[in-house]
Amino acid sequence: MRPDFVLFAVMACPLVGLVALWLLNAMRRRRFLAGPAEDRVFRCSRCACVYTDDPDVDLSRCPQCGLMNESFDFRA
Ligand SMILES: [Zn+2]
Repeated sequence: MRPDFVLFAVMACPLVGLVALWLLNAMRRRRFLAGPAEDRVFRCSRCACVYTDDPDVDLSRCPQCGLMNESFDFRA
C-alpha cells in the first residue's frame, strides 16, 4: 500500500462520516418541522376555544362546548 493512499484514507473517513451525520440531521429536522404544521387550527365562535384537528376535516367539534366550527385561517 502506498503511503499517500493511507494518508488519504485516514483523512477521508472522518470527513465522510461527518457529511453523513450532517445529511441525517438535516433530513430529521425537515421531517420534524413538516409534522405539526399540517394540522388545521379551529377557533370556537361560542366559547373562543382554540384547538387543532386533522387537515382533511372542514368542520370540527369544539372540545369545550361541542359546537361545530370552520377552520381558522391566520391569513384572513
Ligand atoms: Zn366552544
